[in-house]
Amino acid sequence: MRKKQLTDVEVTNQRVLVRVDFNVPKDRDGYITDDTRIRATLPTINHLRQKKARTILLSHLGRPGGQIVESLRLGSVARRLEELLDAPVHYIEDSDWASVRTRLASVKPGEVALLENIRFHPGEARNDAEMARILASLGDIFVNDAFGVSHRAHASNVGVARLLPSVAGLLLTHEVSMISRAIDDPERPFVALIGGAKVSDKIGVLKNLLFLADVVLVGGGMANTFLLSQGHSMGLSLVEEDKLEEARAILEQALELGRHLVLPEDLVVAAEFSPAAARQTVPVDAVPDDWSALDIGEKTVATFVAHIAGARTVVWNGPVGVFEMELFAEGTEAMAVAVAKCPGTTIVGGGDSIAALEKLGLTEGITHISTGGGASLEFLEGKELPGIAALDDAESQGG
Ligand code: ADP
Ligand code: MG
Repeated sequence: MRKKQLTDVEVTNQRVLVRVDFNVPKDRDGYITDDTRIRATLPTINHLRQKKARTILLSHLGRPGGQIVESLRLGSVARRLEELLDAPVHYIEDSDWASVRTRLASVKPGEVALLENIRFHPGEARNDAEMARILASLGDIFVNDAFGVSHRAHASNVGVARLLPSVAGLLLTHEVSMISRAIDDPERPFVALIGGAKVSDKIGVLKNLLFLADVVLVGGGMANTFLLSQGHSMGLSLVEEDKLEEARAILEQALELGRHLVLPEDLVVAAEFSPAAARQTVPVDAVPDDWSALDIGEKTVATFVAHIAGARTVVWNGPVGVFEMELFAEGTEAMAVAVAKCPGTTIVGGGDSIAALEKLGLTEGITHISTGGGASLEFLEGKELPGIAALDDAESQGG
């Protein structure tokens, strides 16, 4: 990443605004069920504390839509952060800027403050110039450590970055270098495993991966559309009729490029979309009219596992079946095990794929789990992410 890094700037005594992604899952009682995203920012925060910076954290939580939503306050996040840092955090629950400014004035070098949910402000999501100006007035330096929102152009990651000296935080740098390493100069064979519900969600990433990977394995709901485009009847399965042309074009492109795009050869079909449905495994050319394909079959599992086992680089995004239901989770679980076992570099993005790994306790086996689902997909598509583009360029080395 040719962007200026946190370690390139002097932060001592400076007011350092840090955009983090504390958008953590919570249960109905407001208890944080997974604090991975908070833990992931500790290197940046601890670096700033050590250097005696005045750290001011900005985060969103959920989608309050520009107004105050009590259940989306960051109080429990602030308390969890205090536990993890073993230090007090100034939690500034005010949303009027005058009070925020007054409260921030008491933050001393080495201390950490957390502002209230930044999406309580209507200007955030529309990257309002006035909101960016106010945020910029609260700090001297801006650090972006929120890879997960880098595909959005909001006031707290893009607007403010244009107004202050702006650098990449340690997590952002790590995320970008892990994913870049896999796609810029991958060890081969490079196998991509793409699943999920729809072709339309992942068409961009599929196309780009065709250029990068040696083998692209396609499962999940999106495989149905490809199979239909080849003339297989898919019964009541989820298909996107309006994407058939695109699916055919992708299959042709794979042929032209000499890439191996592998579709399922058998499917687990269900008589209804229910956790107790009657199920059977059928070849792809024998899906019964009133049934739907909800998982990949055993033969397909074996083929996919063999490709993954022999890979030196694996990128996985999207479950290969409706894994939320135990009856249709076998394929996805077998993929999770295979990716975790693969001795090569393995990168996993996407909330549902990560959930499948977590459920099986397999996250340790993965080289890099991206904290940003949408952002990692757009990065894999080869798009420039606005949150990264807005940061200062690194001074060129030598020359
Ligand atoms: P990720 O969050 O890992 O990026 P997606 O959100 O794209 O994954 O897709 C996950 C969803 O895809 C899951 O809810 C799963 O139930 C659904 N899905 C997978 N296979 C099928 C299928 N054959 N039919 C319908 N939905 C499917
Ligand atoms: Mg998802």
